[in-house]
Amino acid sequence: MSTILITGGTVVTASGTQDADVLVEGEKIATVIARRPGLEIDMTVDRIIDASGKYVLPGGIDVHTHMEMPFGGTFSVDTFETGTKAAAWGGTTTIIDFAVQAKGSSLLATLDKWHEKADGNCVVDYGFHMIVSDVNDTTLKEMESCIGAGVNSFKMFMAYPGVFYATDGEILLAMQRAADTGAVIMMHAENGIAIDQLVARALAAGKTTPVQHGLTRPPELEAEATHRAITLAKVTGAPLYVVHLSAAQALQEIAAARDTGQNVFAETCPQYLYLSLDDLARPDFEGAKYVASPPLRPREHQGSLWRGLRTNDLSVVSTDHCPFCFKEQKELGRGDFSKIPNGMPGVEHRMDLLHQGVAAGELSLARWVEVACTTPARMFGLYPRKGVIAPGSDADIVIYDPAAKQTLSARTHHMNVDYSAYEGFPLTGQVQTVLSRGQVVIDGGEYHGRTGHGQFLRRGLSQYLS
Ligand SMILES: [Zn+2]
Repeated sequence: MSTILITGGTVVTASGTQDADVLVEGEKIATVIARRPGLEIDMTVDRIIDASGKYVLPGGIDVHTHMEMPFGGTFSVDTFETGTKAAAWGGTTTIIDFAVQAKGSSLLATLDKWHEKADGNCVVDYGFHMIVSDVNDTTLKEMESCIGAGVNSFKMFMAYPGVFYATDGEILLAMQRAADTGAVIMMHAENGIAIDQLVARALAAGKTTPVQHGLTRPPELEAEATHRAITLAKVTGAPLYVVHLSAAQALQEIAAARDTGQNVFAETCPQYLYLSLDDLARPDFEGAKYVASPPLRPREHQGSLWRGLRTNDLSVVSTDHCPFCFKEQKELGRGDFSKIPNGMPGVEHRMDLLHQGVAAGELSLARWVEVACTTPARMFGLYPRKGVIAPGSDADIVIYDPAAKQTLSARTHHMNVDYSAYEGFPLTGQVQTVLSRGQVVIDGGEYHGRTGHGQFLRRGLSQYLS
């Protein structure tokens, strides 16, 4: 069994920091040894990695990605191979992607199809959530089989009428099944019925540019849907996880529900912390690069989101990575903003962008690791195999240089997409070395990974339900 000793670093976990060395044996963490003056570690190992002056973090877990996702007649451009490789470059060693049920097909057949796409192609470990777009008796029964297959979180949409949209009645039925089985319902909370009317009205008035995407999806319609999802969850007793929360008003709904002790959780994404409606308003159709749903909000919302991360009303930061190229894909919506594929690239830069929050004093080091690694593992049944540096856990480890400088650019990123939403952003901090189950994947600016190394993760039930 190969052994690696990571020496001299500061181990960061959700509970704090410790000057400690980490011994990796095979795929697992064997021991974490606190350094004390006079303590000499005398052991023979295959490799020593010097982490002096660096952080030693649990590998990042991005619980919201869309590789090869069908949307509006096209597909998101990262494959499971390119997307997991880009994730690794940025210190993310686990992704949870979404299998997408097409109307009329079964959940289990959908799961098989997604296994075919991913199996043997991933560089780091992966799991699946299931998007339920066709609620019927068969689907409701199949939810239990999905749980047996390691997929115990089901995403539904209050947006996108005619595509993924579920009625309140359908949501209620799925939530009842979730309450009975211990599964989590994930919700895209925007009032799609009302939004579609605003979109139609804007287009009829000749308002066709990308900024209209943001203006026709007002924060109030995210807050209203969030409130409705919380209410349905309360009535059924199902746990609720609201994905990609973007608006201060929606966060208030989450906070109010959490204050009553309800099992309601929410995530946000780096684009809502760093980008805004101003980006959607960029001239010459450049705003199309920033079209995702919910939309980027006016800058005032960002302070609330950072505060929500500190107070734990926001529990997780994911990326909603769903990349479409500017050329030929985003361009489908020239002259009609409603035809711009919804989604932005981001899987590579979540750890780095959140580290800016640490550098700026918005988050503590421990909280950075908690929202990006540990809570995602607990929320989706992967802890303590993932999300922590502890004996017995998978050796998914990131050695992070907090003083390194880098500038984000499409020319240097590894995602398979022709633009960066953060072009020219100067960042402090960068990944130095990444281990996935004990294998060095990234080291000193070089890729050493292997396609097919990534394994499917059968997840247990959420570890947060009270
Ligand atoms: Zn998404």
